[in-house]
Amino acid sequence: MGLVALGGKLAVSCHPKSAYAGLNSLVRAHHAMSQRLSLVGPHATGGYKPRQVREEAAVSDPACVVGRLRPNDDNVRGRGQGSMKGAQPSQHPYPASALSEWLFHRGLPLSHDPFGPVSHGICRPWVCLIDETIMTRRYNDFSTYLRQRFGCRVQKITIDAGFSCPNRDGTLSFSGCLFCDGQGSGTGAAAKGESIRDQIQQAKARVAARYKAKKFLAYFQAFTNTYASCETLRKRYDEAVADPDVVGLAIGTRPDCVDEEKLRLIEGYTATHMVWMEYGLQSMHNRTLRAINRGHTFEDFVRTVQWTQGRNIMICAHVILGLPGESRDDVLDTASALAALGIHGIKIHSLYILQETPLARLYQTGVFKALDEDTYVDWVVAFLERLPPEIIVQRLTGDPNPTRLLAPSWTLQKQRVLSLIWKTLEDRDTCQAKGYTPGHGSLRH
Ligand code: SF4
Repeated sequence: MGLVALGGKLAVSCHPKSAYAGLNSLVRAHHAMSQRLSLVGPHATGGYKPRQVREEAAVSDPACVVGRLRPNDDNVRGRGQGSMKGAQPSQHPYPASALSEWLFHRGLPLSHDPFGPVSHGICRPWVCLIDETIMTRRYNDFSTYLRQRFGCRVQKITIDAGFSCPNRDGTLSFSGCLFCDGQGSGTGAAAKGESIRDQIQQAKARVAARYKAKKFLAYFQAFTNTYASCETLRKRYDEAVADPDVVGLAIGTRPDCVDEEKLRLIEGYTATHMVWMEYGLQSMHNRTLRAINRGHTFEDFVRTVQWTQGRNIMICAHVILGLPGESRDDVLDTASALAALGIHGIKIHSLYILQETPLARLYQTGVFKALDEDTYVDWVVAFLERLPPEIIVQRLTGDPNPTRLLAPSWTLQKQRVLSLIWKTLEDRDTCQAKGYTPGHGSLRH
């Protein structure tokens, strides 16, 4: 089986020699990405001692633990590997296919085996627990960035602060964006009377247990989170940062809903917190923005990005792939345009069709077809290639409400989509920025 790398956590090999070679691959990859990786740990990689690996790696900071996954480890037991319960590594061979399956279902792509395929069909898994892996470093992922910055797992928690949207309340339109179902990506918590404080407390309890997160970003997600007076905004944001475990704010909004006064208010939080402004762009093509009834232009987005820059505020752009009438080249135009703007982060997802949206009608009458999974994966990989290496990738696939989703159904299998993206990056031996040339971003229309 050779080396397997898992979204920042695992490298697995069927035998120690392979694990050792795999680690060297990781180290080379890290060096290639100008990252430092260190290897420590109480266990040798089979016959190879950690010290030997460490010397080979020529790195210093402990960021990696090399060890063995016991077949009865909790990570394996209870996830379809019950037959291995109580087994000792030395006693029980481990079916390579089962391990592959276990990893695949966790979105853990298999990298190539430096020693070729396993001929005997079984292996004893060797696991290298690492903070960063070759796979995550195929692109600049957000969780690694947060861990590096805060020294622990940091998880976003979504806030519904009860704002509205000018594209819904009649200021720009009543119908909203073509794909918006009237819930504005919100949880509905505000409508149920839950305060921001309550939402944070509940989310912390949920997320801390699931992800072992210690710190949190309060993500104002629902509707347009700068669409109110500065006084109201201040109260809402203050309520979020009052929680000592909230280390940052992420404010989702439209590019036509900020001004100097609001940016000054938001800038004030950067003294104590990480602050992200998340601007919905979706596409750099104004014809597309008109077709989806966004109610703003690409120029609005550029102007707002420029207003935001120089304030210690991080800027993230939201982009949707598969918008009506858009080709692969159109999507890559958006990537190049964003690459030229000096933004800090990106969120990408495929266009999905929710019930009771204008898009649903187009879909049901056969006017609009959703992207298939392979096309989406291909476009995402090509998109990543055009981004500068420093842009932080916050999201590569969407999270639609399954009870509201009409199509495409493959978007519900988030881990599978991520796995396919990782695998495609690996198969093509490509990564973020591979096709990026500084100063060559495109701003053409
Ligand atoms: S800007 Fe957001 S909340 Fe407003 S209509 Fe569009 S998708 Fe819905």
